[in-house]
Amino acid sequence: MTDQELETAILEIFEQNYEILQAEGGHSLTEDTKRAALQQVLLYWRKMRDVAERVTETEVKLTLPEQQTRKGRKYSIHGVVDVVQEEERTVMYDIKTHDAEYVQSNRGDYEKQLNIYAHIWQELRGQPLDQTAIIATAHPKEVKQALHAGDEAALEAALAAWEPLVDIPFAQQQVEAVIADFSEVVDAIEDRQFSPPPLSRLEQRYKTRGREKRFATQICGNCDGRFSCSSYRAYTQANRGGDVSFNRYFRDFESTDQEAWLNANLETNLES
Ligand code: SF4
Repeated sequence: MTDQELETAILEIFEQNYEILQAEGGHSLTEDTKRAALQQVLLYWRKMRDVAERVTETEVKLTLPEQQTRKGRKYSIHGVVDVVQEEERTVMYDIKTHDAEYVQSNRGDYEKQLNIYAHIWQELRGQPLDQTAIIATAHPKEVKQALHAGDEAALEAALAAWEPLVDIPFAQQQVEAVIADFSEVVDAIEDRQFSPPPLSRLEQRYKTRGREKRFATQICGNCDGRFSCSSYRAYTQANRGGDVSFNRYFRDFESTDQEAWLNANLETNLES
């Protein structure tokens, strides 16, 4: 297959997947979001082709069954990873749609998850493991700018500089603490404790795509629950600057993107 034929095949698979997800979940994407998702897939393929072609097991389902919370609730932990086994070496990859800089500055969160998967792979399945890593598929702002400008040379340079692979060392001794964290979350969900994090957390800054962003921008900005979230409300009140109108709080809710998203979803649900 030529490169062009491969990318055409990826496009077809992307469309098929989208239709399946749409039918299963009843949700649609706006045209802009769908185009951005396809672009991320294609760029990920161009950049990580070497790893993608070496993957020996894809979508490996890992399960840690029969866990029990402090309050006696039973639960299981499930995960999906890709695995490369070459000669004497085994590497486990977890693909995330986040950007590499964000993963780097929040390594602890990713370590927890990968430690559990490594534990299942090694201890329960009895398989060797040499390395664990995150593949962060969101491309950096330099790639985005080059795409926007249609500048092929700049795009080549930005793709060459992009490092989507983030090594995450695994530590077997942390597994118990991580499982205890999961148990706390299970108990909190079952006890209907859904309080959002405090305002200080929303003010916290992370490095992402070469810029510092607050939790409120990076995470809450994509959260469907933000318009009924007391912490987000407190954040907008504390950060409204000179604009004291209540409308400011709802401004992004009225954005064109929201309207396109609503229309796309209405169409999907009318068709189903
Ligand atoms: S807006 Fe969403 S992500 Fe942000 S604190 Fe509230 S619930 Fe959490």
